[in-house]
Amino acid sequence: MDIQRKLAILADAAKYDASCASSGTEQRDSRDKKGMGSTAPGMGICHSYAPDGRCISLLKILLTNACNYDCLYCINRASSNVTRARFTAEEAVRLTLDFYRRNYIEGLFLSSGIIRSPNYTMEQVVRVAKSLREDHHFRGYIHLKTIPEADDALIAEAGKYADRLSINIEVPTETSLSKLAPEKDVHAIRKTMGRLRLKLDEAEATKHEPKAPRFAPAGQSTQMIIGADTSNDQTILETSANLYGSYQLRRVYYSAFSPIPDASHKLPLQAPPLVREHRLYQADWLMRFYGFAIGEITDPLEGGMLPLDIDPKLAWALRHRDRFPLDVNKASREELLRVPGFGVKAADRIITSRRFANIGLRDLGRLNVPKHKALPFIVLADHRPAPSQLDSNRLLNRFRPKPAQLGFTF
Ligand code: SF4
Repeated sequence: MDIQRKLAILADAAKYDASCASSGTEQRDSRDKKGMGSTAPGMGICHSYAPDGRCISLLKILLTNACNYDCLYCINRASSNVTRARFTAEEAVRLTLDFYRRNYIEGLFLSSGIIRSPNYTMEQVVRVAKSLREDHHFRGYIHLKTIPEADDALIAEAGKYADRLSINIEVPTETSLSKLAPEKDVHAIRKTMGRLRLKLDEAEATKHEPKAPRFAPAGQSTQMIIGADTSNDQTILETSANLYGSYQLRRVYYSAFSPIPDASHKLPLQAPPLVREHRLYQADWLMRFYGFAIGEITDPLEGGMLPLDIDPKLAWALRHRDRFPLDVNKASREELLRVPGFGVKAADRIITSRRFANIGLRDLGRLNVPKHKALPFIVLADHRPAPSQLDSNRLLNRFRPKPAQLGFTF
């Protein structure tokens, strides 16, 4: 099989993995001409997006799509009738370098089906990263998927070469995992996340010491498939909160389940709406950066599901109209962060600006603070919404966005 055919198969097989962001690592470049690549977006680095909107600026491939395991939701499972392919480590290295030189990518995302044994598979994955770093002085971004059962020494070696390591938690609950991926062991997955956390903590504690061992400076992340089981959004967010808290994950990626050919009857026939994935990312953001508790984000009256037609912060504000209108010139930062449409930057700009003068409508424009969603919920020096507007049943309709206009702003 020629390398192009392998690439077609193994890039396609990797597309189901959502974790591909390269933010958060140490800044490196090769302006000293002693290597190649950079971890920061810059000249000559192309960013492109898959039809579903995911960033694919990393060369995202599997080393092989052959697998001993039979996870029901996975197109590469042992019983799947797909064409199998396998890169040698040298082929994966060559492709990464060729793509980088052509400015197609800013780094490599490498995962693999499990062949022979977890250790053998992990060795192959590490070999690619090691060769890129040591033989070719590659300084671009490397994200490696970690095999949970692999030996400690291999995990340490992976962290030496990779910017980010990840282990997929796969599905939101242990019960679902044992039903859909019986060969996977949630305890092994969590144990390895714990091992990674210890190594990350050690690296952080010694980072200023000369010759301190390097370990995945962009931390660890995970991916959760949503819609393959019946877990509601509240359960998904509770699992995420537990993972962030226990293992200090940088990101939990949510990947909407894609129906696969010849699927088991245990799986749904239809994919969940992609917007559900988007709402979960917004809710995840609210939990981590806006001080919301999970119980505030999801509504028990909606069966623990996030609304699909409006963002979760707007939904919260509409459920708590008694807390509004909020006086922008007096509110605390925490309160400002709860105003629909106000993000962290907007809240900080408001707080800085109001030290000098009361803020009015025109000031919001000058400060680049979005006001479309906020106006019915705030009081300004020259603006006060009519009480009837805030109480109106029509307020929700006013905010229902057209699906094409969905964005990540709050
Ligand atoms: S171990 Fe990974 S590649 Fe193998 S079947 Fe499960 S999800 Fe797919």
